[in-house]
Amino acid sequence: MRPSILNPLFSDLRSLKGIGQRVEERFTALLPSPGGQPGSAPKIIHLLWHFPSSMTDRSARPQIAQTEEGQIATLGVTVLRHNPPANFRSRAPYRVICEDESAKIELTFFSAKQSWLEDKLPVGETRYISGKVEKYDDRFQMLHPDYIVSADKLDDLPTLEPVYPLTYGLNNKMLQKTVKQALGKLPDGIGEWQDKPFVSKKGWPSFCEALYIVHLVSPDAETANNAKLPLHEARMRLAYDELLAHQLALSLTRQKIKQVDGRCLKGTGKVSQKIYHALEFELTGDQKKVLDEIALDMEDRSKMLRLLQGDVGSGKTVVALLAMAKAIESGTQAAIMAPTEVLARQHFISFEEIAQKAGLRIALLTGRDKGRKRTAKLLALMDGDIDIMIGTHALFQEDVLFKDLGLVIIDEQHRFGVHQRLALQEKGVADMLVMTATPIPRTLLLTHYGDMDISIIREKPPGRLPVQTALKSNDKIDEIIARLGSALENGVQVYWVCPLVSESEKLDLQAAEKRFEGLYSQFGAKVGMVHGKMKPTEKDLVMDAFKAGELSILVATTVIEVGVNVPNASIMVIEHAERFGLSQLHQLRGRVGRGNAQSTCLLIYQGPLSKTAGQRLSIMRQTEDGFRIAEEDLKIRGGGAVLGTRQSGQLPYNLANPEEHEELLQIARDDARLILNIDPDLASARGQALQILLHLFEIEEAAFYLKAG
Ligand code: ADP
Ligand code: MG
Repeated sequence: MRPSILNPLFSDLRSLKGIGQRVEERFTALLPSPGGQPGSAPKIIHLLWHFPSSMTDRSARPQIAQTEEGQIATLGVTVLRHNPPANFRSRAPYRVICEDESAKIELTFFSAKQSWLEDKLPVGETRYISGKVEKYDDRFQMLHPDYIVSADKLDDLPTLEPVYPLTYGLNNKMLQKTVKQALGKLPDGIGEWQDKPFVSKKGWPSFCEALYIVHLVSPDAETANNAKLPLHEARMRLAYDELLAHQLALSLTRQKIKQVDGRCLKGTGKVSQKIYHALEFELTGDQKKVLDEIALDMEDRSKMLRLLQGDVGSGKTVVALLAMAKAIESGTQAAIMAPTEVLARQHFISFEEIAQKAGLRIALLTGRDKGRKRTAKLLALMDGDIDIMIGTHALFQEDVLFKDLGLVIIDEQHRFGVHQRLALQEKGVADMLVMTATPIPRTLLLTHYGDMDISIIREKPPGRLPVQTALKSNDKIDEIIARLGSALENGVQVYWVCPLVSESEKLDLQAAEKRFEGLYSQFGAKVGMVHGKMKPTEKDLVMDAFKAGELSILVATTVIEVGVNVPNASIMVIEHAERFGLSQLHQLRGRVGRGNAQSTCLLIYQGPLSKTAGQRLSIMRQTEDGFRIAEEDLKIRGGGAVLGTRQSGQLPYNLANPEEHEELLQIARDDARLILNIDPDLASARGQALQILLHLFEIEEAAFYLKAG
């Protein structure tokens, strides 16, 4: 349950003055929704997370003649005369002429009420106006001043004013007023959850102070005057609060998984020796390094929770096999889960030969296994007659019981989140290794895998030729097809990828079918096709024929399964490459360049290219380094992200910005682990303050683990 001290911050916006149902709806459109649930009405806290994107500085008080075009200035002027439009229906502006000792200035209003203007700007009186000065020739103008006040109200005119991102029906003054009220709801007794020496070393304000500063509403004049300076520190403080909350949640999950006693899987080396003998190559340095890291984890009594990152083709499979060998030598079983049937089958096939040589009993279990066949496999598994079970999600159905499952490997599963990791623990797994071929930039790693230890294979097996990547305009397509002919005669195999283009899958399929027919009419039965609508067995038939070399061209919608291994395929054609994301392009290109032949990737695009599409394609031409591609991808997608705005779906942060705060993210991760080492139940005074922090950022589930823990 949420600590009651936070209740005022989690009240409805409507409890604030001036907010009724209509305005609330507009805020719902503007603000991040509670707990990320779209459409639900935001609470006061969410308004406080809505930071100004810039500020207007009205402190400049020049004379009219000294102002520059475009300058925001506050001017003390005398009102000379009013020039209403000749015809009150006309769209001509209403002008008010004012002056100071140095020059005249024209205030311009469109569709303003005369009575209101006469009241605000009485002729002969002195008024202070603030707004953007425009200069035409030597005439000064100000269109709709932001403020018009008399001398006795000058204090009401803010010198520094936050400028908020807005949406239809909300204006900046409304935002300012509402935020001020919201700040008033900050509870007094909210303690410090950060390490105090750390905060003072950084020169950071307290949480509440930081919010006042960020919103440029300062409790005292001195802070207001310095607002420009501590602004940064205040934002850093709040970003760090958010990052620590997330890292703490991940570390709590990690703690929960690790708490359950693991076991020491020491191995004997018997099986792995046989595997080493059966391999036709030496392991690369990086493969050896990650295997050592994995071995240490397995031998340790606590559970392994490790992510193995390695670009496509970096040789993760053999690492997986050797890790499983270690589990089996220790008298346990191992399982490897792939995201699709095609991949599970491929693993099965690629393990088969080596498994036989090493005397390992392996089996395959997918959704296709039914009835007696399935029952037989399950019984063998329970009796310990299967050493390695390979499969899809079907592996984790309730009735799949292992005799003694020591190691689980999850392959290529980019979307395997914290929740699934926890769910897997229910199977009583000792050690877990997640393998991903998607190079994940550091910020995303720490954000989504902060609970895991990380091993990276950067080095590729020796002797690989780089893939030649070329961009081709769509109108060259006939030329490309003509040239494929001679390549096919030399025994080359080709992937031809058609994207899902339109909203309708049906239309997309039609486009792919048309391409298939075109190629078929040219090359005949050498052309095959796979798409998402096919039955798994049909897909297998086509894939097998392609693998066996019976097909030369494989036309595919984007379903070419990640990880498919056909070393003889050396040409990858991607149609409408401009519609693919960078990581998708990289994964697809990774299908070629696996054999000894020179490989080619043709990126066919339909111009004109948008700026980001152009950037993506040019990066593809520049590099094959998956890590670099991933970093660039993050830059392009997160590009232009303003501090305090939500990242485009990738990161769960409202306040932190991965580009600006990467260093803080690393500190937060270390900090979170340290905190839990000392105070695993968050029971100390600081621990209790940290529980408030978790609730503040609505990381309820972490708090749940605490109680359940
Ligand atoms: P990943 O799963 O990381 O995409 P794979 O494990 O499928 O990559 O390996 C790609 C290819 O490289 C396979 O054909 C594999 O046999 C080969 N390979 C793996 N390690 C080495 C090595 N150290 N030396 C030479 N070839 C290797
Ligand atoms: Mg262990």
